[in-house]
Amino acid sequence: MILDKKLAVFGAGDPAFAEPLHVGRPNIGNREQLLRRINGMLDRRWLSNDGPLVKEFEAKIANYVGVKHCIAMCNATVALEIAIRALELKGEVIVPSYTFVATAHALQWQEIAPVFADMDPHTCNINPETVERLITPRTTGILGVHVWGRPCDTNVLEAIGRKHRLKIMFDAAHAFGCSRNGTMAGSFGECEVFSFHATKFLNSFEGGAIVTNNDLLAEKIRLMRNFGFKGFDNVGYLGVNGKMTEVCAAMGLTSLEIIDDLIATNRRNYEAYVRLLYGLAGISAIQYNPAEHNNYHYIVVEVDPEKSSLNRDELVSVLHAENVLARKYFWPGCHRMEPYRSLQPNAALLLPETERVASRIFLLPTGQTVDVATIEIICGIIRKALSESTSVRAALRQTV
Ligand SMILES: *Cc1c(COP(=O)(O)O)cnc(C)c1O
Repeated sequence: MILDKKLAVFGAGDPAFAEPLHVGRPNIGNREQLLRRINGMLDRRWLSNDGPLVKEFEAKIANYVGVKHCIAMCNATVALEIAIRALELKGEVIVPSYTFVATAHALQWQEIAPVFADMDPHTCNINPETVERLITPRTTGILGVHVWGRPCDTNVLEAIGRKHRLKIMFDAAHAFGCSRNGTMAGSFGECEVFSFHATKFLNSFEGGAIVTNNDLLAEKIRLMRNFGFKGFDNVGYLGVNGKMTEVCAAMGLTSLEIIDDLIATNRRNYEAYVRLLYGLAGISAIQYNPAEHNNYHYIVVEVDPEKSSLNRDELVSVLHAENVLARKYFWPGCHRMEPYRSLQPNAALLLPETERVASRIFLLPTGQTVDVATIEIICGIIRKALSESTSVRAALRQTV
């Protein structure tokens, strides 16, 4: 708590703030259930390779989402790579720059150029109008991302795909439990990819899955996940090792049992943040449509530097000084990270909204370990910092 001493503010002395408050702190289900599953796994000595827990996890995910096939994976990055290969994408694939860098890396790793499309500032999702302008003879697909779990404009992207004969897939890493027009994320495009990383809404320690309604694609993905093995001694495809372990499935199944509670907790927290940030000039929380399913896993705040007395970076510095580790997602955008910055030095010219919005957004902590009293203090810090912006700015300057 650096600022604390200089400004005598905020969370000082509150036990909730003794430990840093992280964005994406894992949510954990019932321990006894988890340990029971792990004991069963040890008794069976079946630790990986399509064990009963992985099969159960896959069936439950497919059922929850309402898709025919779920193929569980070791993580979403490998799942994206396998999906991209199974769809035979090559050349160029259009993706948003405003995403976690794994979306772009999954393409570049197999020497497919990610071509960065700008975002729609109202949704933070890929803007279909900018997509069409980026299509070239080398384009083979569009990889949309459901940023903050709010699904992309899937029907417009699918229509562009049909018109230009491009394959459409989605990175749904944020979107487990979220819907668009009542249809759950997971059913759009050729296939979709979930992440079950520890920081995500539903966690299996590390993990991911590809979901699809396409039988042939699902079969191919299953083979590619396990070195291409079609049976003993018979390799039918180029494959990799993308298997989910039984212990991860045990965690995933245990997490699945608490998702209704988690959504309720996240929603309560989200509503508290919205209420407590209301009316602060230049500060707004992004909105979730209450008519859709949402997991409310991301508390996303946008700072308008013209209207707010402190800008995004200043507010994040204040929060860090108070042990609230707010994060600047997805700052500065994939196009400003390597290798893309070097490979495509002029990409920013086509990404004005990504550039603008990425400099204004930060995320706040939520989940099981955050309660409304803590949110009151966090919002109190923001409120007080904004109202004392002159002295806060002076203090920030001294600390750098
Ligand atoms: C977390 C995340 C990934 C990567 O997921 P892992 O399971 O950690 O590999 C990919 N895309 C997006 C948008 C993510 O947020």
